[in-house]
Amino acid sequence: MKRTKVLIGFLLVVFLLFIVSCSATYTGVQSKNDQEKRLTVSTSFYPIYIMTLNIVKDVPGVDLVNIAPLQTGCLHDYQMTANDLKKMENSDILVVNGAGTESFLDQVIEQLPELEIIEASRGLELINDNPHIWVGISGAKAEVENISTCLAELDPAYAELYLRNGNEYISRLKALETRMHQTLDGIANKKIITFHEAFPYFAREFGLETVAVIQREAGSEPGARELQETIELIKNTNVKAVFAEPQYSPLSAETIARETDARVYRLDPAVTGEMEADAYLKTMEKNMQVLFEALK
Ligand SMILES: [Zn+2]
Repeated sequence: MKRTKVLIGFLLVVFLLFIVSCSATYTGVQSKNDQEKRLTVSTSFYPIYIMTLNIVKDVPGVDLVNIAPLQTGCLHDYQMTANDLKKMENSDILVVNGAGTESFLDQVIEQLPELEIIEASRGLELINDNPHIWVGISGAKAEVENISTCLAELDPAYAELYLRNGNEYISRLKALETRMHQTLDGIANKKIITFHEAFPYFAREFGLETVAVIQREAGSEPGARELQETIELIKNTNVKAVFAEPQYSPLSAETIARETDARVYRLDPAVTGEMEADAYLKTMEKNMQVLFEALK
């Protein structure tokens, strides 16, 4: 009797885990579109689009749509447009990063109860509630796995293909991760300064020590005092490299470089780029080279 109870309890837990793993309903996706476009999958923004692009490769009838305009970069303070809303209304499945990235979507999602939501970051451990999980390769791998598993469950006819695509992409990410470790692990001075708090996952993965993060708010320049403090910090801590992001103005970084011995480099959090399947791999490859040059 007791064993039965334990078993029932166990099955219930498994069942609940299963239920929360993707989205609330498992009745299969009823496409709102014609036969040619069997399934419309939308993604909230660029990094999630690139992951999903790899996962839906060769799956018949999938129309993949990205919601936020490509130049948006990170979604901090993003204001949704009527066009974005229309894209979501026409979608069967919406893939988001989650972890607070898409707060602008909350209200809309309530209005679209039939929209299936896949949260790429579901179940992943966050560093200080920071949502930039995809900037670390292991984070990207975990998110790809979440998305492909959920797409396989929501569109079971092509489950095998989603899972195979997901695994193939994960293998390529793993190969890159190994190469990055081979290149970066031996570097002695790994102290860096970054702009906009996009790099904690990346830094942890490759043992980088972030001694300061400047200009935390997207688009705002640091104040004179923060800049002066950072300059002092660099002088006191032997930081050789300041990393600006291509999406942000490099002005403050250049001021810092002028006042200290540190040099300014570009590190890319992969929030903008080409709309092609290999774009993330290429961006990270480039980050690896930049870091190696900057810190060797
Ligand atoms: Zn960001």
